[in-house]
Amino acid sequence: MISPSPKYLPPSLERPTKTEILKKAIEHFGIDNQIDVAIEEMSALTQALIHYKRGRTANIEEEIADVYVMLQQIEMFFGSQYAVDTFREYKIERLALLLKKEGAL
Ligand SMILES: [Mg+2]
Repeated sequence: MISPSPKYLPPSLERPTKTEILKKAIEHFGIDNQIDVAIEEMSALTQALIHYKRGRTANIEEEIADVYVMLQQIEMFFGSQYAVDTFREYKIERLALLLKKEGAL
């Protein structure tokens, strides 16, 4: 697994928070561009998963991280983290019910 190196971090002592960085990315690049990047990163993850299934080298962890970073920006622009978390909890509960129904949980 590849680990990000601290040497790539900016030297500033007053570091912005991760949320500030993501908000600034939307503001600076624009939501249309960030949607395009999100689509590109989701496609890259798709490709990595296909490579994995075919037994080829796949940088799945890095691609998942890229998708998370873009999804956080999409979430910030289009909705609230509370709403997304609520949907996520509901869908996990629904999955649990399905697994129980099928005797797997
Ligand atoms: Mg990527």
